[in-house]
Amino acid sequence: MEKPLIVITGASSGFGAEIAKLFNKENYPMLLLGRRVEKIKALPLNFDKVLVEAVDVTDKEQFETAVRKAEALYGKTDLLVNNAGVMLLGNVLIQDPAEWKQMMDTNVLGVLNGMQIVLPDMVARETGTVINMSSIAGRKTFGNHAAYVATKFGVHGLSETVREEVSAKNVRISLVAPGAAETELLTHVTDQNALDSYNAWKQTMGGKSMAPEAVAETVKFIYDMPQSVNIREIDIAATNQNA
Ligand code: NDP
Repeated sequence: MEKPLIVITGASSGFGAEIAKLFNKENYPMLLLGRRVEKIKALPLNFDKVLVEAVDVTDKEQFETAVRKAEALYGKTDLLVNNAGVMLLGNVLIQDPAEWKQMMDTNVLGVLNGMQIVLPDMVARETGTVINMSSIAGRKTFGNHAAYVATKFGVHGLSETVREEVSAKNVRISLVAPGAAETELLTHVTDQNALDSYNAWKQTMGGKSMAPEAVAETVKFIYDMPQSVNIREIDIAATNQNA
């Protein structure tokens, strides 16, 4: 039987790229989204049933156009992984508000955009899954993370709310909350002090955090459960992460 469509945002690096590799091994048709499409196209994937589109998740129209294009090829979306996100560390007293806005727009509105694009069809068909990428910073505070923490607490809050709203329609809303992991996330931080302090904390883990593959396997595990079972949330971090 033909496998259903999986949509992954932020597939150009980090968790998103690893999630794409795992589903690709099992021949799922996929729509892979990111702004840097050349990075997605360079991933070691079999691209036979993979559509790659340049999408900024903060642009709902662009996001929706890409999803409808993929659905015309592969059928309705069965899984959306709302993974795209940015973490711009900084102290609220001095951080450029443009950085807060970028995080809010991407991490919160980007996730809401994705949900509004796929959920009406999922509810109508009474099947489907959305997995949102939150963070341990969506459960507890970290210094220099105030605006980021606000976005990830937001992801926790909106995910559980929508889960309650669509649960009766057999649609699963799930959430993964990772701890620190080896991705490109830190490369966008502009505040050197905040970055130094993060790296000093990382030294308590021997300078190396969790492998992104572990998060990808977690997403796959959640999806592979029967549709009648919803793993609502998984928190996953390196064993030696102390916070
Ligand atoms: P990366 O920086 O490696 O990946 C982030 C991805 O998001 C990239 O593919 C990037 O693609 C995409 N992205 C960013 N902004 C946009 C946008 N406006 N539109 C579309 N895509 C966008 O980091 P991670 O893999 O770590 O991050 C993935 C998720 O995991 C994020 O939500 C992050 O908050 C979360 N997370 C990460 C942790 C970590 O320590 N690594 C810990 C906990 C949670 P492109 O630039 O090509 O658009």
